[in-house]
Amino acid sequence: MKKYILPVMMLAIFETLAVTLWLTKDNLFYLFNFSYIGISISLGLFLFVRKYKHARRIVQLLVGSYMLVYLGLICNENMQIEGFWYYLFTGVFEAATIHYAVAKIFGPLIFGRGWCGFACWTAMVLDFLPYRTSGAPRKKIGWIRYITFALSLVFVAMLFLCHVGNIEKIMFLAFIIGNVLYYAAGIALAFLFKDNRAFCKYVCPITVFLKPMSYFSLFRIECDKSKCISCGKCERVCPMDVKITDNSRKRENGTECILCMECKRVCPKDAL
Ligand code: SF4
Ligand code: SF4
Ligand code: SF4
Repeated sequence: MKKYILPVMMLAIFETLAVTLWLTKDNLFYLFNFSYIGISISLGLFLFVRKYKHARRIVQLLVGSYMLVYLGLICNENMQIEGFWYYLFTGVFEAATIHYAVAKIFGPLIFGRGWCGFACWTAMVLDFLPYRTSGAPRKKIGWIRYITFALSLVFVAMLFLCHVGNIEKIMFLAFIIGNVLYYAAGIALAFLFKDNRAFCKYVCPITVFLKPMSYFSLFRIECDKSKCISCGKCERVCPMDVKITDNSRKRENGTECILCMECKRVCPKDAL
């Protein structure tokens, strides 16, 4: 039963969040929303423990499509980074601000970049592409993420500074156009660099939050050196080029780990 602790813990964390937000904000939506996400993630972890190969992909599709289609397109919530800036400027602790606080700013202190491995709707599509491992040295173009981050902030700030009317409608259009651009850039970069996760590594503005917070993550994969035979399989399958056999928090590309568990799945000695 010990191996099921993680899915149970994850469900408990999300249910606590769901009930707390439901009662404090007096809004039943939060109970539904975070219960759905918690159940989906726990189901994926449960299937992973049962060694089901597509466990992570199932969670990605359940959570990613729910957020993109239901929250984004049907409920008109801009859950992109522009939506976060928008709600932040209006001082409203709703939708995108809660989503960012939980999944991308404070949550990573507990579950690292689990969002990137299990829930992101951009990666949900990118992970269908043929280049699961990069197979080439990293490019030194990670600075692009700071430009996209700054552009998103300046775009929303300008809407407020210029007193543009009907911002809600603009934010919805920005959500659609932003997603189309993300998918187009993500797919183009994947084929250009032969790396499904090239967009995540170099362009995604959200990593400006995710990387520093996940450095301190409570959940992280560690290597049991007494079992490891240095076969290198774990690092060869890693989509994010993490030096996972190094247990230091400063390990190479450590803040890139998306907790996809591919390394753990292929380890012949169960050392991870
Ligand atoms: S880095 Fe960005 S695009 Fe990639 S999975 Fe994480 S949030 Fe999604
Ligand atoms: S796959 Fe396992 S045994 Fe091989 S290097 Fe990685 S941790 Fe060590
Ligand atoms: S280190 Fe393991 S869990 Fe982390 S991204 Fe690489 S393969 Fe996935």
